[in-house]
Amino acid sequence: MRSPLPDYLTEVLRGCADSSGALADYIPELARADPDRFALTLVTAEGAVYSVGDDHTEFTIQSISKPFVYGLALQQRGFDAVLDVIDVEPSGEAFNEVSLERNTGRPLNPMINAGALAAHALVLDGRQPEASVEDIRSLLSSLAGRELTIDEKVASSELENSYRNVAIANLLRGYEVFEDDPDEIVEGYIRQCSVTVTTKDLAMMAATLAAGGVQPVTCEEIFSRDVVRQVLSVMATCGMYDAAGDWLSTVGIPAKSGVSGGIIGILPGQLGIAAYSPRLDDHGTSVQGVAAFGRLSRDMNLHLMDAPMVAHSVLRRRHVIGEGDESLTLLELQGDLQFTSSEGLVTAVVDEPVETKRLVFDLSLVRTILPVGRRMLLEMIGRLHRDGVEVVVIDPEGHLPEPDTGYGFRPQVHTSWEDLEAQG
Ligand code: GLU
Repeated sequence: MRSPLPDYLTEVLRGCADSSGALADYIPELARADPDRFALTLVTAEGAVYSVGDDHTEFTIQSISKPFVYGLALQQRGFDAVLDVIDVEPSGEAFNEVSLERNTGRPLNPMINAGALAAHALVLDGRQPEASVEDIRSLLSSLAGRELTIDEKVASSELENSYRNVAIANLLRGYEVFEDDPDEIVEGYIRQCSVTVTTKDLAMMAATLAAGGVQPVTCEEIFSRDVVRQVLSVMATCGMYDAAGDWLSTVGIPAKSGVSGGIIGILPGQLGIAAYSPRLDDHGTSVQGVAAFGRLSRDMNLHLMDAPMVAHSVLRRRHVIGEGDESLTLLELQGDLQFTSSEGLVTAVVDEPVETKRLVFDLSLVRTILPVGRRMLLEMIGRLHRDGVEVVVIDPEGHLPEPDTGYGFRPQVHTSWEDLEAQG
């Protein structure tokens, strides 16, 4: 059998064909793009790639670099240092608007140019001008899983026409948002925007965010989970500039667009999506790209705010083994222990009290345990122990390292049933 996904995606490209919109021409080199190119790529958080259309066409990343550079600044400088300099409020204005906080000059968010220039300066951190560009090119390469290069023609074309960005950078320097030479920051930022990518590269970058910061193919841990959460939050509220609210309510996927015609979207835990088509609407966003995202969201139920399915029960099976004093209760857990699934487990044990002296939690089929799931499981183990039940854990994958319950009790942990039986 052939996977139906590529056929479906080809059908999406066909269904979204639209020749309205215009190429960006404020950067003359961008106006030379072939207006009819259209590509769509999906990469799952596990690294499966589905790609159709002109997915070998290279284009410059432009504003889609902004969320990643913001992530890099957070990772390098820490949250406090970054939040001091760049706010996280939607501006509701165009990408190149001078959206600065009154009195302090702090840019409203890192997705508009003012915030992106400030984020670039944070990465530069007073070093030689080339250092930030190289850090960023190398970060984007790790995210894409291949070496990316800079399109110097597009960079110099933008640089020759960068009056507005130069004005914004000078204002930021005036407010002492950074202390570097504004021209150097603009040049670095423009070169960051000129890194060349395909939709496959972008979807891989998006999938890395979907996978909590781990590149799904190389398995490199690029961003911490905290950084990913911050980046996705800002993308959801500010990624689509003055269309952010409309986008979140209709498409419902945290996203970022760029003036060369790319759009990325991230479905946390599931999917990275990238579209490319260079004709833009009035917001500076790809017309066909917006249509494709809308269609995918509707057809595949990707809207983030769609009431999620009730979390799968993590209690797969409960049974009592043996009789009398030798008997034990076995609780086989499965899937993901987050808040609601752990709550279901707690309720199951509260509603049907454990009547044996011994209890085994078997975590062999557990996939992940979030910190809240760990806390709730350890709390249960501590309370069961307090009630006189001797609890042991089977944990072949090491999901529950150093299980201190806080009740002066640490359960024994075994890697298998055989190990449990061998040790009695
Ligand atoms: N380099 C572009 C600029 O600063 C990026 C804008 C965008 O992609 O939205 O004007």
